[in-house]
Amino acid sequence: MNKIEHIGIAVKNLDISNELFAALLGAPHYKIEEVASEGVKTSFFKSGPNKIELLEATNPESPIAKFIDKKGEGIHHIAFAVDNIEHEITRLKNEGFTVLNEVPKKGADNKLVAFLHPKTTNGVLIELCQDIPKDNK
Ligand code: ZN
Repeated sequence: MNKIEHIGIAVKNLDISNELFAALLGAPHYKIEEVASEGVKTSFFKSGPNKIELLEATNPESPIAKFIDKKGEGIHHIAFAVDNIEHEITRLKNEGFTVLNEVPKKGADNKLVAFLHPKTTNGVLIELCQDIPKDNK
């Protein structure tokens, strides 16, 4: 795995949290993207070389709505950049981790993503993400 690609934070209201994080980081979000298949609306912030993703549920069945019901707002996942997501999925399965998406799916920010179940990672939801090559959308 490479660097931490971003940290995902579950929020109840994206508009309010966009203002809050703009004040915190001293710069506004640079994009908003809805991932309809996941029932989320996301915004992205830069903090130096790092990225923060805020996630708001767009329907009550969204994983983000369920997370907030259970745990409240807060850190939802840590995402790691990988060069070859299929390779990493196979490697991590062989290491005994529970991979939630054996076939990577399209996530926000032009990435292929897969998640590891937090029960096998000390309670932390881990996202793997690989850039989708530009000529392969
Ligand atoms: Zn993410």
